[in-house]
Amino acid sequence: MPEGDTVWLAAKRLHAALAGRTLRRFELRVPRFAAADLTGREVTAVTARGKHLLTRIGGGVTLHSHLRLDGEWLIHRASELPGHRGAAVGRPGRTVRPGRTDRPEHQVRAVLANDEWAAVGYRVHDIALLETAREDTLVGHLGPDLLGPDWDPEEAVRRLTAQPDRAVGEALLDQRNLAGVGNIYKAEILFIQRLNPWAPTAAVPDLRALVDTAHRLLYANRDHPEQSTTGSLRRGEQHWVHGRAGRPCRRCGGRIQVAGQGAAPYARLTFWCPACQPAADQPATDQPEADQPEADQPATDQPTASQPGADQPEADQHGLDQHGLDQHAVDQHAVDQQAAEDPREVVDPGGHRSSSPGKAGTIG
Ligand SMILES: [Zn+2]
Repeated sequence: MPEGDTVWLAAKRLHAALAGRTLRRFELRVPRFAAADLTGREVTAVTARGKHLLTRIGGGVTLHSHLRLDGEWLIHRASELPGHRGAAVGRPGRTVRPGRTDRPEHQVRAVLANDEWAAVGYRVHDIALLETAREDTLVGHLGPDLLGPDWDPEEAVRRLTAQPDRAVGEALLDQRNLAGVGNIYKAEILFIQRLNPWAPTAAVPDLRALVDTAHRLLYANRDHPEQSTTGSLRRGEQHWVHGRAGRPCRRCGGRIQVAGQGAAPYARLTFWCPACQPAADQPATDQPEADQPEADQPATDQPTASQPGADQPEADQHGLDQHGLDQHAVDQHAVDQQAAEDPREVVDPGGHRSSSPGKAGTIG
């Protein structure tokens, strides 16, 4: 599942490609809205609310979409799309970045094109058209948006406090508390704050510091597709604990653990250092017992059962380690720096942050 910063960047790039331009092509390939045609109207804005994407269109209409686990919007040159103004150029699903995987036509859920750009939603979920004035019916339940203009840390703390018995690892992922944290940031935030993922929120000594850390990490990563919580953009060095099960903790040298947390459909793998993030009855230590599994926690490497179609657990098992990547893998940062001003470079909201395969698998 993409994290809030990924969706924020997708919105920014979609906004650059679509806003202020008239739609020449508008297709929603989902049964309920297949007949909708907003051709001729102008897109006024594309914005993110938590992990939801809102494309606002003239006449007071909003197109809602959500990337969930595998969705992505790609931006093509309009002329590359077959059927656009008679130009049968290019394959549908053609990606703009050389060497990237092509997406098949049947995965297209939405096409919004103007004279210059075509935004194509592949496998995007929860497509809905609604009155802009009624957006809250789809996103009103969300807590304060970490990357929104109205980010309100005190309200986020208030909401977290309202469920004192809830495990902090689950509470951070609940978008009703604060919107934007996904599974990777969850693990990283908890590590930075030295909090055990199963600790109840009531036991968190400084919830404000927790939400401030969340804000700082997402904000720092919002403008570029690479994600790093460590300050390093080198593949294999971008995260403290996420995707690093069995590897040494960068802080204490202990062994990073992984286990399922939460009940379906919200179950996620969570990574943590037992030494740096001890359970309540376990004193913090810099002498980790590296080989001691957490007996009272869910079995490792067994993500809790998911429900198809629901908000599924991220494919965290596709972490760096499982990919067999080492810390000397190619640094793709430079590649991703190309053409930063081209809205198409946005294009990878699906979370295929190229330098971070650990980012929720396919995506994250
Ligand atoms: Zn540690």
